[in-house]
Amino acid sequence: MSAIRRRRSVAVNVGGVWVGGDHPIVVQSMTNTDTADTAATVNQIMALARAGSELVRVTVNTDAAARAVPVIVDTLRQFGETVPVIGDFHYNGHLLLKKYPDCARALDKYRINPGNVNIGRKHDDNFRTMIEAAVEHGKPVRIGVNWGSLDQSLLTRMMDDNSRLAEPEDARTVTLRAIVRSAIESARAAERYGLGRDRIILSAKVSGVQDLIAVYRMLASEDDYALHLGLTEAGLGSKGIVATTAALSVLLQEGIGDTIRASLTPLPNGDRAEEVIVSQQILQALELRSFTPQVTACPGCGRTTSTFFQDMADQIQTYLREQMPSWKSRYSGVEEMKVAVMGCVVNGPGESKHANLGISLPGTFEEPVAPVYIDGKLSTTLRGDAIVAEFIALLEDYVARRYAALPVETAAV
Ligand code: SF4
Repeated sequence: MSAIRRRRSVAVNVGGVWVGGDHPIVVQSMTNTDTADTAATVNQIMALARAGSELVRVTVNTDAAARAVPVIVDTLRQFGETVPVIGDFHYNGHLLLKKYPDCARALDKYRINPGNVNIGRKHDDNFRTMIEAAVEHGKPVRIGVNWGSLDQSLLTRMMDDNSRLAEPEDARTVTLRAIVRSAIESARAAERYGLGRDRIILSAKVSGVQDLIAVYRMLASEDDYALHLGLTEAGLGSKGIVATTAALSVLLQEGIGDTIRASLTPLPNGDRAEEVIVSQQILQALELRSFTPQVTACPGCGRTTSTFFQDMADQIQTYLREQMPSWKSRYSGVEEMKVAVMGCVVNGPGESKHANLGISLPGTFEEPVAPVYIDGKLSTTLRGDAIVAEFIALLEDYVARRYAALPVETAAV
């Protein structure tokens, strides 16, 4: 694993999943179903959890959504799904948490946005009501500032103060400072209202990569609250994935971040679980955690005349991901396995030797055979139409031999 030194933060228990401290960085996601639609929401939470989401957040925006939450959580538990469920509140959270104590009890954490919880009010009594609900029910809270809903009175105050300085800072810097100030001051207020530091997680999300990096560096240097990282409104497709990866990777490399989310916009009918896979891939690429065996595949070039090796790489990656739920319970360390699927002999054998298992397919004008390397040594040569099936059989055999859990009596010796 990586030699990255993590920033020290206070550990927070979220429904049995630890966030912060020395605990592994946690992957989380959020549903996009109408929470009042209990069946659709349960199905999506289960799909996200199956994909590897360790915390799942749901919108709690209406009376119907608040009434649905205990039903959703009960149903999940009846199905044996233990993933913690977080309630996302805006504007009316103080009303819903008071009016629906079953909802307040069922949730494992509340997300509060300080920028819209006290809109139009002079005091922070709505915020305080939500914190008091968290104290009463023994729940942690994420204080999640978002620059799209930043407390405008705080920003105006800071802009005014800044304008009176001999050397005022630019508006962007003041805005970023206001985001950080909002998060820290809200956390301190939560502590004054009785919430322990071990029940507070902070986030300060913006949609620009450089802004996010700047904000979190400031936030991390201010205090040791656990931090949730995410680039908000990251966007569609490759733009969203690249921007999220760029921002989070810089911060994670600096040891900043205890839990992450990739806020991707799914394509219509797209798979919501993609955001979970992206988060896992970021952590695995940085060697912070391992979730699933990795496939090294070359990009292909003029030496490959067909898409066969691309299809094969895709089939192998899909196969590995699909096997993981069952492999994880039977084989120890299998998530760290490396598999290479290469398009020709130029880099194929070399890359294969660095993997646990590697196959080098024949390029144009090469003999139609595919050498397979296991633990760096040439093991066999495949040919014909059944190469994928035969390689998968070799994979299964390797996993069973290499990662089988030791019998109890052997382990005790
Ligand atoms: S390994 Fe072969 S097919 Fe793949 S990119 Fe390199 S030269 Fe091209």
